[in-house]
Amino acid sequence: MSSWHELEKKQHKVVKLLTNSMKNNRLSHAYLFEGSVGTGKKEISLQLTKSFFCRDKNAEEPCNKCTDCKRINSGNHPDAHIIAPSGLSIKKEQIEQLVKEFGYAGVESKKKVYIIEDAEKMTPQAANSLLKFIEEPREETVAILITSNLHRMLNTIISRCQVISFAPLNVNELLEKLKNEGIPENIAKLAASLTSDFQEAKDISSDEWFAEGRNKVLKLTEDLFQKPEQAFIFLQERFLSHFSEKEQLEKGLSLLLLWFKDLLYLQLGQEEKVVFIDQIEKMKQLTMQMSQRRIVNRINVILEGQRKLHSNMNPQLLMEQVVLKMQEG
Ligand SMILES: [Zn+2]
Repeated sequence: MSSWHELEKKQHKVVKLLTNSMKNNRLSHAYLFEGSVGTGKKEISLQLTKSFFCRDKNAEEPCNKCTDCKRINSGNHPDAHIIAPSGLSIKKEQIEQLVKEFGYAGVESKKKVYIIEDAEKMTPQAANSLLKFIEEPREETVAILITSNLHRMLNTIISRCQVISFAPLNVNELLEKLKNEGIPENIAKLAASLTSDFQEAKDISSDEWFAEGRNKVLKLTEDLFQKPEQAFIFLQERFLSHFSEKEQLEKGLSLLLLWFKDLLYLQLGQEEKVVFIDQIEKMKQLTMQMSQRRIVNRINVILEGQRKLHSNMNPQLLMEQVVLKMQEG
């Protein structure tokens, strides 16, 4: 169970805003918490709920001991409702049930809170039922809608809520979360370097295409250094078929770029920044044969390749150029 004090380390702005609003008795009647998966939206919703109900607060910090706090912690407070998708969507009946319950006076007090998780999954009918409800707020009611996909929310809902954006996870937090999911560190590091979104990083980590792509990139770099005359053949016969679409080659170039950046970090003595951690020993040997200038030249070749890919150059032709330029030095 986190305190506001701990949550503030992760979501400084959000926590400041919410605790200040409570202090000044100016909580909004409807919030929309938006941000990537894993940024603490639900945790902060529950903390806000506790602060709202707690009978023994210390400043805005809930006590975690009173009946209200305990009931919220165990998920059975009579005046705090949490709605989550049933199956793939949040259905009209779920919202209607909520509205009905809110018709009764609060069991314990006048206060009520409802939290809607994955709010973008409301069917249009559910969203419309909610809309009427949000428009006529009862006193002392707080609605918290949570979403990781703001772009899928109806504008009519967004415009009636105070939208609070959660900061994305930093690389270390993301790494920690991925490791907690049982993802090996070498893969987690790579995924966390490609995206700051937890769900996306998790998907990348379990994607077989991606794992195979990583192997192909490693093989290509190995050929480039050890048997440069074979690199082009490998490219033609094994590499391009795996990265044939533009989006795929985009990922391939990103991996290649990370690999060369690793070489540079090693040469600069910044081993802690290396992403391909299981390749460190091999890379260290390579850095001995290669000047910093040559590594930077190759990084520039890849960056140029990425730009050309965006300007719609044929992916196959582009990758051939990249490899030829790298063979030149
Ligand atoms: Zn309490």
